[in-house]
Amino acid sequence: MAGLAAGQRMQASGWRVKIVDKGRVAGGRMATRTFDEGRFDYGAQFFTTRDAAFADVARSWIDSGLAVPWSGHRFRAAGGMRAVAETLAAGLDVRPGVEVTRLEFAADKWAAELETGETVEAATLILTPPVPQSLALLEQGGVELETADRALLEQARYWKCITILVRVEGTTQVGECGFVEPQNEVLAWAGDNYAKGVSPVPGCLTLHGTKDFSEAHWDEPQAVAVHAMLEAAEPYFQGRIRSYYLHRWRYAEPSMQMPELFHGIGGLAFAGDVFGGARVGGAVCSGLAAADYLMAR
Ligand SMILES: Cc1cc2nc3c(=O)[nH]c(=O)nc-3n(C[C@H](O)[C@H](O)[C@H](O)COP(=O)(O)OP(=O)(O)OC[C@H]3O[C@@H](n4cnc5c(N)ncnc54)[C@H](O)[C@@H]3O)c2cc1C
Repeated sequence: MAGLAAGQRMQASGWRVKIVDKGRVAGGRMATRTFDEGRFDYGAQFFTTRDAAFADVARSWIDSGLAVPWSGHRFRAAGGMRAVAETLAAGLDVRPGVEVTRLEFAADKWAAELETGETVEAATLILTPPVPQSLALLEQGGVELETADRALLEQARYWKCITILVRVEGTTQVGECGFVEPQNEVLAWAGDNYAKGVSPVPGCLTLHGTKDFSEAHWDEPQAVAVHAMLEAAEPYFQGRIRSYYLHRWRYAEPSMQMPELFHGIGGLAFAGDVFGGARVGGAVCSGLAAADYLMAR
Protein backbone atom coordinates (compact mmCIF):
# COMPACT_ATOMS: atom_id res chain seq x y z
CA MET A 1 0.00 0.00 0.00
CA ALA A 2 2.92 2.34 0.72
CA GLY A 3 4.34 1.75 -2.76
CA LEU A 4 1.01 2.08 -4.55
CA ALA A 5 0.11 5.27 -2.68
CA ALA A 6 3.52 6.78 -3.46
CA GLY A 7 3.26 5.75 -7.10
CA GLN A 8 -0.17 7.30 -7.48
CA ARG A 9 0.94 10.58 -5.97
CA MET A 10 4.09 10.84 -8.08
CA GLN A 11 2.34 9.87 -11.30
CA ALA A 12 -0.38 12.45 -10.62
CA SER A 13 2.42 15.04 -10.43
CA GLY A 14 3.77 14.04 -13.82
CA TRP A 15 6.49 11.59 -12.77
CA ARG A 16 7.07 8.35 -14.65
CA VAL A 17 6.58 5.57 -12.14
CA LYS A 18 7.36 1.86 -12.35
CA ILE A 19 6.38 -0.56 -9.59
CA VAL A 20 7.77 -4.08 -9.32
CA ASP A 21 6.13 -6.48 -6.85
CA LYS A 22 6.98 -10.10 -6.30
CA GLY A 23 3.39 -10.89 -5.28
CA ARG A 24 1.05 -12.53 -7.81
CA VAL A 25 -0.87 -9.25 -7.64
CA ALA A 26 0.22 -6.02 -6.00
CA GLY A 27 -1.11 -5.30 -2.52
CA GLY A 28 1.25 -7.14 -0.18
CA ARG A 29 -0.46 -7.63 3.16
CA MET A 30 -3.78 -6.32 1.74
CA ALA A 31 -4.36 -9.89 0.69
CA THR A 32 -7.42 -11.79 -0.55
CA ARG A 33 -7.36 -15.36 -1.86
CA THR A 34 -9.85 -17.76 -3.44
CA PHE A 35 -9.90 -21.49 -2.77
CA ASP A 36 -12.51 -24.26 -2.54
CA GLU A 37 -15.06 -21.80 -4.01
CA GLY A 38 -14.61 -19.46 -1.03
CA ARG A 39 -12.94 -16.08 -0.89
CA PHE A 40 -10.88 -15.00 2.09
CA ASP A 41 -9.15 -11.85 3.35
CA TYR A 42 -6.01 -13.31 4.89
CA GLY A 43 -3.86 -10.28 5.73
CA ALA A 44 -5.34 -6.96 6.88
CA GLN A 45 -8.99 -7.40 7.84
CA PHE A 46 -10.13 -3.79 8.07
CA PHE A 47 -8.82 -0.24 8.13
CA THR A 48 -9.47 2.75 10.34
CA THR A 49 -9.14 6.40 9.42
CA ARG A 50 -7.37 7.81 12.45
CA ASP A 51 -4.38 9.11 10.41
CA ALA A 52 -5.43 12.52 9.08
CA ALA A 53 -3.56 12.21 5.75
CA PHE A 54 -5.02 8.74 5.25
CA ALA A 55 -8.59 9.86 6.03
CA ASP A 56 -8.59 11.88 2.78
CA VAL A 57 -7.46 8.86 0.77
CA ALA A 58 -9.93 6.54 2.51
CA ARG A 59 -12.77 9.01 1.88
CA SER A 60 -12.43 8.41 -1.87
CA TRP A 61 -12.60 4.62 -1.33
CA ILE A 62 -15.71 5.03 0.81
CA ASP A 63 -17.37 7.52 -1.58
CA SER A 64 -16.85 5.14 -4.51
CA GLY A 65 -18.28 2.17 -2.58
CA LEU A 66 -14.95 0.34 -2.58
CA ALA A 67 -14.97 0.39 1.23
CA VAL A 68 -17.92 0.40 3.60
CA PRO A 69 -18.37 1.01 7.34
CA TRP A 70 -18.15 -2.23 9.27
CA SER A 71 -18.10 -2.27 13.02
CA GLY A 72 -17.32 0.67 15.29
CA HIS A 73 -14.49 2.67 13.73
CA ARG A 74 -13.59 -0.14 11.30
CA PHE A 75 -14.11 -0.15 7.54
CA ARG A 76 -14.06 -3.26 5.34
CA ALA A 77 -13.48 -3.52 1.61
CA ALA A 78 -16.63 -4.66 -0.17
CA GLY A 79 -14.82 -7.00 -2.60
CA GLY A 80 -12.05 -8.04 -0.22
CA MET A 81 -9.08 -5.98 0.91
CA ARG A 82 -7.11 -6.84 -2.22
CA ALA A 83 -9.70 -4.94 -4.29
CA VAL A 84 -8.53 -1.68 -2.71
CA ALA A 85 -4.94 -2.37 -3.75
CA GLU A 86 -6.08 -3.39 -7.23
CA THR A 87 -7.95 -0.12 -7.61
CA LEU A 88 -4.87 1.84 -6.54
CA ALA A 89 -2.75 -0.16 -9.00
CA ALA A 90 -5.06 0.46 -11.95
CA GLY A 91 -3.54 3.14 -14.15
CA LEU A 92 -0.05 2.59 -12.72
CA ASP A 93 2.73 0.72 -14.47
CA VAL A 94 2.86 -2.25 -12.09
CA ARG A 95 4.83 -5.40 -12.83
CA PRO A 96 3.49 -8.09 -10.48
CA GLY A 97 4.84 -11.59 -9.98
CA VAL A 98 8.49 -10.61 -10.42
CA GLU A 99 11.02 -10.51 -7.61
CA VAL A 100 13.73 -7.86 -7.39
CA THR A 101 16.93 -9.79 -6.60
CA ARG A 102 19.44 -6.96 -6.10
CA LEU A 103 19.73 -3.18 -6.15
CA GLU A 104 22.72 -1.26 -7.43
CA PHE A 105 23.60 2.41 -7.56
CA ALA A 106 25.99 3.67 -10.25
CA ALA A 107 26.39 6.85 -12.30
CA ASP A 108 23.61 8.59 -10.31
CA LYS A 109 21.10 5.89 -11.20
CA TRP A 110 19.42 3.08 -9.32
CA ALA A 111 19.26 -0.26 -11.07
CA ALA A 112 16.92 -3.00 -9.88
CA GLU A 113 17.84 -6.43 -11.15
CA LEU A 114 14.82 -8.70 -11.56
CA GLU A 115 14.65 -12.47 -11.27
CA THR A 116 13.98 -12.57 -15.01
CA GLY A 117 17.43 -11.10 -15.64
CA GLU A 118 15.98 -7.76 -16.73
CA THR A 119 17.03 -4.47 -15.14
CA VAL A 120 14.84 -1.47 -14.29
CA GLU A 121 16.68 1.85 -13.99
CA ALA A 122 15.49 4.98 -12.23
CA ALA A 123 16.79 8.25 -10.83
CA THR A 124 14.88 7.79 -7.59
CA LEU A 125 13.82 4.69 -5.70
CA ILE A 126 11.27 4.00 -2.97
CA LEU A 127 11.71 0.75 -1.08
CA THR A 128 8.56 -0.48 0.65
CA PRO A 129 9.23 -4.15 1.48
CA PRO A 130 9.71 -4.88 5.18
CA VAL A 131 13.03 -3.14 5.98
CA PRO A 132 15.13 -6.30 6.54
CA GLN A 133 14.21 -7.40 3.00
CA SER A 134 15.08 -3.97 1.55
CA LEU A 135 18.44 -3.97 3.31
CA ALA A 136 19.20 -7.45 1.95
CA LEU A 137 18.54 -6.24 -1.63
CA LEU A 138 20.97 -3.33 -1.18
CA GLU A 139 23.59 -5.57 0.37
CA GLN A 140 23.20 -8.01 -2.52
CA GLY A 141 24.04 -5.19 -4.93
CA GLY A 142 26.98 -3.93 -2.88
CA VAL A 143 25.29 -0.65 -1.85
CA GLU A 144 26.84 0.54 1.40
CA LEU A 145 24.81 2.81 3.64
CA GLU A 146 26.29 5.32 6.11
CA THR A 147 26.71 3.77 9.55
CA ALA A 148 23.99 5.97 11.10
CA ASP A 149 21.44 5.12 8.38
CA ARG A 150 22.15 1.42 8.65
CA ALA A 151 21.98 1.48 12.46
CA LEU A 152 18.60 3.20 12.31
CA LEU A 153 17.14 0.88 9.68
CA GLU A 154 18.41 -2.24 11.40
CA GLN A 155 16.18 -1.38 14.35
CA ALA A 156 13.06 -2.36 12.36
CA ARG A 157 11.29 -5.28 14.02
CA TYR A 158 8.11 -7.16 13.10
CA TRP A 159 5.78 -9.70 14.67
CA LYS A 160 5.09 -12.94 12.88
CA CYS A 161 1.57 -14.23 12.26
CA ILE A 162 0.38 -17.72 11.38
CA THR A 163 -2.89 -17.52 9.47
CA ILE A 164 -5.23 -20.36 8.58
CA LEU A 165 -8.10 -20.09 6.12
CA VAL A 166 -10.75 -22.71 6.80
CA ARG A 167 -13.65 -23.81 4.61
CA VAL A 168 -16.32 -25.53 6.69
CA GLU A 169 -19.68 -27.11 5.88
CA GLY A 170 -22.60 -24.87 6.80
CA THR A 171 -22.30 -21.52 8.48
CA THR A 172 -20.07 -20.12 11.22
CA GLN A 173 -20.82 -18.58 14.61
CA VAL A 174 -18.66 -15.53 14.92
CA GLY A 175 -21.19 -12.96 16.05
CA GLU A 176 -23.38 -10.52 14.18
CA CYS A 177 -20.55 -8.45 12.69
CA GLY A 178 -18.77 -11.45 11.25
CA PHE A 179 -15.72 -11.51 13.49
CA VAL A 180 -14.56 -12.12 17.02
CA GLU A 181 -11.29 -11.28 18.72
CA PRO A 182 -10.97 -14.32 21.02
CA GLN A 183 -9.32 -13.62 24.32
CA ASN A 184 -7.24 -16.78 24.34
CA GLU A 185 -3.57 -17.68 23.86
CA VAL A 186 -3.98 -19.13 20.38
CA LEU A 187 -6.30 -16.96 18.29
CA ALA A 188 -6.20 -13.19 17.83
CA TRP A 189 -8.94 -13.09 15.20
CA ALA A 190 -11.67 -15.29 13.74
CA GLY A 191 -13.53 -13.72 10.84
CA ASP A 192 -16.33 -14.95 8.59
CA ASN A 193 -15.68 -13.85 5.02
CA TYR A 194 -19.27 -14.52 3.94
CA ALA A 195 -20.76 -12.28 6.63
CA LYS A 196 -18.13 -9.71 5.70
CA GLY A 197 -19.28 -9.72 2.08
CA VAL A 198 -15.99 -11.04 0.71
CA SER A 199 -16.93 -14.65 -0.04
CA PRO A 200 -19.80 -15.70 -2.35
CA VAL A 201 -20.28 -18.87 -0.25
CA PRO A 202 -20.71 -19.32 3.53
CA GLY A 203 -18.38 -21.22 5.84
CA CYS A 204 -15.17 -19.31 5.08
CA LEU A 205 -13.19 -18.53 8.23
CA THR A 206 -9.98 -16.55 8.56
CA LEU A 207 -8.03 -17.38 11.72
CA HIS A 208 -5.03 -15.32 12.85
CA GLY A 209 -2.76 -16.74 15.53
CA THR A 210 -1.74 -14.43 18.37
CA LYS A 211 1.75 -12.90 18.32
CA ASP A 212 3.00 -15.22 21.06
CA PHE A 213 1.44 -18.31 19.49
CA SER A 214 2.83 -17.50 16.02
CA GLU A 215 6.31 -16.86 17.39
CA ALA A 216 6.29 -20.05 19.46
CA HIS A 217 5.04 -22.28 16.61
CA TRP A 218 6.91 -20.68 13.70
CA ASP A 219 9.53 -23.40 13.28
CA GLU A 220 7.34 -26.33 14.25
CA PRO A 221 5.77 -28.68 11.70
CA GLN A 222 2.70 -27.12 10.10
CA ALA A 223 0.41 -29.80 11.57
CA VAL A 224 1.11 -28.63 15.14
CA ALA A 225 -0.09 -25.07 14.53
CA VAL A 226 -3.02 -26.27 12.43
CA HIS A 227 -4.20 -28.65 15.14
CA ALA A 228 -3.99 -26.02 17.90
CA MET A 229 -5.67 -23.27 15.84
CA LEU A 230 -8.51 -25.47 14.59
CA GLU A 231 -9.14 -26.73 18.11
CA ALA A 232 -9.26 -23.14 19.42
CA ALA A 233 -11.69 -22.26 16.61
CA GLU A 234 -14.17 -25.05 17.42
CA PRO A 235 -16.67 -22.68 19.10
CA TYR A 236 -17.01 -20.80 15.79
CA PHE A 237 -18.35 -23.57 13.53
CA GLN A 238 -20.25 -26.84 13.75
CA GLY A 239 -19.96 -28.44 10.34
CA ARG A 240 -17.17 -30.62 8.94
CA ILE A 241 -13.93 -28.96 7.80
CA ARG A 242 -13.79 -29.29 4.00
CA SER A 243 -10.34 -27.81 3.44
CA TYR A 244 -7.83 -25.35 4.87
CA TYR A 245 -4.84 -23.30 3.80
CA LEU A 246 -2.03 -22.08 6.04
CA HIS A 247 -0.04 -18.91 5.41
CA ARG A 248 2.94 -17.70 7.43
CA TRP A 249 3.45 -13.95 7.58
CA ARG A 250 7.10 -13.50 8.57
CA TYR A 251 6.70 -9.72 8.64
CA ALA A 252 3.06 -9.38 9.68
CA GLU A 253 3.07 -6.22 11.70
CA PRO A 254 5.81 -3.93 13.04
CA SER A 255 6.49 -4.40 16.74
CA MET A 256 7.94 -0.87 16.95
CA GLN A 257 7.66 2.39 15.04
CA MET A 258 10.52 4.29 13.45
CA PRO A 259 10.97 7.89 14.60
CA GLU A 260 10.18 9.34 11.13
CA LEU A 261 7.39 8.82 8.57
CA PHE A 262 9.92 7.58 5.98
CA HIS A 263 13.71 7.51 5.79
CA GLY A 264 15.30 9.45 2.93
CA ILE A 265 18.90 9.15 1.80
CA GLY A 266 19.37 11.32 -1.28
CA GLY A 267 17.26 9.86 -4.09
CA LEU A 268 16.43 6.76 -2.05
CA ALA A 269 13.51 6.52 0.38
CA PHE A 270 12.46 3.71 2.69
CA ALA A 271 8.75 3.64 3.44
CA GLY A 272 6.08 1.33 4.84
CA ASP A 273 4.11 0.60 7.96
CA VAL A 274 7.15 0.38 10.23
CA PHE A 275 7.57 4.13 9.59
CA GLY A 276 3.95 5.31 9.40
CA GLY A 277 2.41 2.99 11.97
CA ALA A 278 1.40 -0.67 12.08
CA ARG A 279 -1.69 -0.49 9.92
CA VAL A 280 -2.96 0.14 6.40
CA GLY A 281 -3.33 3.88 7.03
CA GLY A 282 0.19 4.08 8.45
CA ALA A 283 1.63 2.43 5.32
CA VAL A 284 -0.27 4.81 3.02
CA CYS A 285 0.83 7.91 5.00
CA SER A 286 4.44 6.73 4.87
CA GLY A 287 4.31 6.17 1.10
CA LEU A 288 2.78 9.61 0.50
CA ALA A 289 5.42 11.31 2.65
CA ALA A 290 8.23 9.48 0.83
CA ALA A 291 6.77 10.56 -2.53
CA ASP A 292 6.58 14.20 -1.39
CA TYR A 293 10.19 14.05 -0.18
CA LEU A 294 11.52 12.70 -3.49
CA MET A 295 9.50 15.15 -5.58
CA ALA A 296 10.70 18.10 -3.48
CA ARG A 297 14.38 17.28 -4.04
C1 LIG B 1 -2.30 -11.08 9.37
C2 LIG B 1 -2.34 -9.57 9.28
C3 LIG B 1 -3.43 -8.88 9.75
C4 LIG B 1 -3.47 -7.49 9.68
N1 LIG B 1 -4.59 -6.83 10.07
C5 LIG B 1 -4.68 -5.51 9.87
C6 LIG B 1 -5.90 -4.83 10.08
O1 LIG B 1 -6.93 -5.44 10.36
N2 LIG B 1 -5.93 -3.47 9.91
C7 LIG B 1 -4.81 -2.77 9.50
O2 LIG B 1 -4.91 -1.55 9.34
N3 LIG B 1 -3.66 -3.40 9.25
C8 LIG B 1 -3.56 -4.74 9.41
N4 LIG B 1 -2.42 -5.40 9.11
C9 LIG B 1 -1.24 -4.61 8.74
C10 LIG B 1 -1.35 -4.06 7.30
O3 LIG B 1 -1.67 -5.12 6.43
C11 LIG B 1 0.02 -3.49 6.95
O4 LIG B 1 0.38 -2.51 7.92
C12 LIG B 1 0.08 -2.83 5.57
O5 LIG B 1 -0.67 -3.52 4.62
C13 LIG B 1 1.55 -2.76 5.17
O6 LIG B 1 1.69 -2.17 3.89
P1 LIG B 1 3.15 -1.90 3.32
O7 LIG B 1 2.97 -1.26 2.00
O8 LIG B 1 3.97 -1.18 4.35
O9 LIG B 1 3.85 -3.33 3.19
P2 LIG B 1 3.45 -4.64 2.36
O10 LIG B 1 2.00 -4.73 2.18
O11 LIG B 1 4.14 -5.78 3.02
O12 LIG B 1 4.11 -4.37 0.93
C14 LIG B 1 5.45 -4.69 0.64
C15 LIG B 1 5.49 -5.22 -0.78
O13 LIG B 1 6.85 -5.46 -1.13
C16 LIG B 1 6.86 -6.57 -1.99
N5 LIG B 1 8.23 -7.12 -2.00
C17 LIG B 1 8.98 -7.51 -0.94
N6 LIG B 1 10.19 -7.94 -1.36
C18 LIG B 1 10.20 -7.80 -2.72
C19 LIG B 1 11.15 -8.09 -3.74
N7 LIG B 1 12.36 -8.57 -3.46
N8 LIG B 1 10.82 -7.84 -5.03
C20 LIG B 1 9.60 -7.33 -5.35
N9 LIG B 1 8.64 -7.05 -4.42
C21 LIG B 1 8.95 -7.28 -3.12
C22 LIG B 1 5.83 -7.52 -1.40
O14 LIG B 1 5.36 -8.46 -2.37
C23 LIG B 1 4.75 -6.56 -0.95
O15 LIG B 1 3.73 -6.40 -1.93
C24 LIG B 1 -2.36 -6.78 9.14
C25 LIG B 1 -1.26 -7.49 8.64
C26 LIG B 1 -1.26 -8.88 8.69
C27 LIG B 1 -0.12 -9.63 8.08
